[in-house]
Amino acid sequence: MVFVRTTPPRPVEVTAVFPELAPLARPAIRLHPRPGSPSVGDSSVGGPLLWPAEEPWPHCEDSHLHGDSGFRESPAEVRLGRHSRAQRYEDPYGPSFTPEEEAALRQKAERLAERLDAGPPWPAECPVPLLPVAQLYLRDVPLLQPPGEADLLQVLWCPYDHEPDWKPATAVFWRSAASVVDVLATPPEPYEANYSGYVPEPCLLAPEAITEYPNSFDLSPESRQVVGHWSRWQAAGADVDSSYAEYPVEFYDGNLADAPGWKVGGWPPWGRTDPYRRYCTVCDAQMVPLLTIASFEWDSSTHGWVPYEDRAAYAAGRPAGLSPAQPTRVEVGSTDNMQLYVCPASPEHPHTDLIQ
Ligand SMILES: [Zn+2]
Ligand SMILES: [Zn+2]
Repeated sequence: MVFVRTTPPRPVEVTAVFPELAPLARPAIRLHPRPGSPSVGDSSVGGPLLWPAEEPWPHCEDSHLHGDSGFRESPAEVRLGRHSRAQRYEDPYGPSFTPEEEAALRQKAERLAERLDAGPPWPAECPVPLLPVAQLYLRDVPLLQPPGEADLLQVLWCPYDHEPDWKPATAVFWRSAASVVDVLATPPEPYEANYSGYVPEPCLLAPEAITEYPNSFDLSPESRQVVGHWSRWQAAGADVDSSYAEYPVEFYDGNLADAPGWKVGGWPPWGRTDPYRRYCTVCDAQMVPLLTIASFEWDSSTHGWVPYEDRAAYAAGRPAGLSPAQPTRVEVGSTDNMQLYVCPASPEHPHTDLIQ
């Protein structure tokens, strides 16, 4: 990896104040995506996939409401738009292209614009080619538990809203990188996205191993009560601002529990919804978080997780959409998280996903 991101130590050692939470510690890997030009050999968000030339590119077979979204931009146009906006506002966190990358995007945008310019009714594109969302090599993210000889996770989605819960439809592939001899050079692309937030900006990653504790929604009623006792925090000499005395659970959730942003493993970021357990459709095991696809790397309640390397950028403040907290430009739900879950018994059992 060419760059690093470092999460500051937590302001309070969780197990020193609440030894009963120690068994609930879970490893996670923050991915820290940042705009760049990943290759098929890199772990990435929104980057090109190491996809075998002889294997059909995955497509979504669902029916899609073409023309009803009101959003008529191709992925290439979305990315060109972000680039020109970043240049206009001199946004150091926005995408930057090489002249070759820009020319390739313009060519794609023109080809797709012709199709859209023909006006409604637009030809229904079915099936829809999926867009790469993430590619993770085991060497970079050793927390992954691939099946058999696999050492590469590839996640794609269909950039339309799907019934019944109006989110992109996700697909998960495991493969062995060494088994890919000829790489598919020009994968098909959908000719439009339902929403610009469904087009991930290509990012390189700086994976970082951390330890997480459950969000207070995931704690037992007893543990939740314990975390809410200010006297416990005081007795342990925890250095926490007394403005949290009324509601220390808020401090716990924002600073000590689950990390915000893109990550592998760890605990779910509840808050938008109450905990919602997912069970494997094959073996009924309770599923565990695989990948968290986040709209924001941090927000005002979780800024304690901003890496050291981004502290100055965070402090400088930027208008929405030009924020260092939105490196991937992905937005799911109402700027929420989408979490992919896998079966702990077998990574080959079907995955599921959830907006939260
Ligand atoms: Zn679809
Ligand atoms: Zn299962």
